[in-house]
Amino acid sequence: MSVAPEHPLAVFGHEEAKRVLRTLRAHTLLFTGPPRVGRRRVARWYAALLNCRAPQRGEPCGACESCRLFAATPEGPAHPDYREVAPERETKAGRRSRRPQIRIGDLVARDDAPNPLGPWLEARPRFRTRVGVIDGAESLSEGAANAFLKFLEEPPSYAVVILIAPSVQSVLPTLVSRSAPVRFGAVHVPAKLPEPHPAARLGRAGELLEAAAHPDAFSAQLAVVDRYLLGLGKGLEEALERADALEKAWSERAEVAELLRARLSAWPPERYARALHALGRCEEALAAYAAPSVAVQVLTLELRELVRGARGR
Ligand SMILES: [Zn+2]
Repeated sequence: MSVAPEHPLAVFGHEEAKRVLRTLRAHTLLFTGPPRVGRRRVARWYAALLNCRAPQRGEPCGACESCRLFAATPEGPAHPDYREVAPERETKAGRRSRRPQIRIGDLVARDDAPNPLGPWLEARPRFRTRVGVIDGAESLSEGAANAFLKFLEEPPSYAVVILIAPSVQSVLPTLVSRSAPVRFGAVHVPAKLPEPHPAARLGRAGELLEAAAHPDAFSAQLAVVDRYLLGLGKGLEEALERADALEKAWSERAEVAELLRARLSAWPPERYARALHALGRCEEALAAYAAPSVAVQVLTLELRELVRGARGR
């Protein structure tokens, strides 16, 4: 690799996906695989490669003007030929939205759309290739997908669209049939952490790297989860108080659910299975309703029953 491992364009693993991308000449790509394994990182890498002035052995050089723009900010690339569109996951109040969605106006020209992706992709690139990423293509509504199809059928020669989704099945068939699939699996990332992180088991490079970069935040999240679990054996009031703390941490970082899942896996198998079930229901409720504290309180009551049941009460 031409760039250092901590460089924003560095990719962990995914050699097969990179090989496929170097040879494919498709204008629409569908990246599928579990969240946080590095799909968007590879999308940025590919966009950098397509625009690099002097690629070296199939890697972006990391030094030319285009590559430098890809590495410009910690929030993501500030490259004039690269854009990411993602569903709105948060409401204005900062809470999880009921149903994250990419709106038609995000993709094609509408009166209320400030800068839709389609017309942006049609404008001439400053470097070589305009790359538009739709991260969360599974949440494209049928209307939005259909409006965007016209663009996907006849994209300009200098435009590439990358759809990112958990699986081929999660995306509308009309989009799947027009895109070249690139599959992503779990990757192994050697990250030094005070405690084993559940993301290591799941092969989620992004999560692991973030935890390694912010070990204090990771420890703080673990502490909230452990305090919550200890609280299950205490009085109801205290348990629910700790549930509120958990819910707060969870609404800030989705990874908190994975930490909780990892801790629950230490429970005896049958209790663990039932706890997982309860956690799954809670996650569904959180995705569907705007009352997160109630959902987590319900989870807490269910887990409390399991803990108390184990004590023979
Ligand atoms: Zn370069």
